[in-house]
Amino acid sequence: MKKHFTIYFLLLLSHSIFAQDMMITDKSSILPEPLPAPRLEVTYIANSGFLFTSGSNRVLIDAIYLDGEVWEAPSKKILKSMVAGNPPFKNITHLLVSHYHEDHFDATLTAKFLVNNPKTYLITNKQTDSVMRRVLKMDPQFKRPEQSKIIETPMFGMETYESGSLRIKCMAQRHMGKEDYNVMSMGFLIDFSGKKVLHIGDADFTEENFKDFGLADENIDIAFIHYWFLLDCEGRRIIDEYIKPKKIVVTHIPYDELRRDYKRMREYYPDIEVFLNHMDKKVY
Ligand SMILES: [Zn+2]
Repeated sequence: MKKHFTIYFLLLLSHSIFAQDMMITDKSSILPEPLPAPRLEVTYIANSGFLFTSGSNRVLIDAIYLDGEVWEAPSKKILKSMVAGNPPFKNITHLLVSHYHEDHFDATLTAKFLVNNPKTYLITNKQTDSVMRRVLKMDPQFKRPEQSKIIETPMFGMETYESGSLRIKCMAQRHMGKEDYNVMSMGFLIDFSGKKVLHIGDADFTEENFKDFGLADENIDIAFIHYWFLLDCEGRRIIDEYIKPKKIVVTHIPYDELRRDYKRMREYYPDIEVFLNHMDKKVY
């Protein structure tokens, strides 16, 4: 009996060593293949406004406004579809607003959009929220706090928002220009399951606006950067040192000046891209 038990024990031991060996071998042979980068569809709305679609995430940014003064604005027809949530603006998961300026945001239309699209989540900063509160004082039913994530971080701070496979780093940056010194523009680094998009709103090209966010280590796929940033040598230094994107798309374009300045921008960034027509679509 004892002898049998010893043989049985030895067999068991050798089997378990063999199994362990197999497991190790198996582990090394099934190293996970790197996941293919997800498909990202980018639709140009107007000015700094874009729709990003990747899988079930549909993110609209700086797109809902009526009149951008001298800047491009969405047509009445497109605006109506956006606010109503009609195709191609059905099932928008998130609306991001960089700041409250009227060529990026309209409080009343944004409130109506949230009512019509109860599953959409608004992400913006306190300044934009306070403009909404002021405008909606008479219509408090339009204010939908359960549909809003208000970023409270002080200037140059950052907050991260996560939902399912979507991760958004919200960076508080100073708006460009002396007259807008106190305006906080939110930069958004949106991670669509591995494909990373940066949208910097109207951020100024200063060291303090970019040095602490570690963007150069993020391996950013596409950076949406405003026109003046690219024409200034300090702006280009910030891009090369602190952002290091694989691709740049130009936003906030004065089209009458584009012909003159495009060549100059391309000398520095040969594969820079612009969207020339509203609702143009590109897949990355
Ligand atoms: Zn602005």
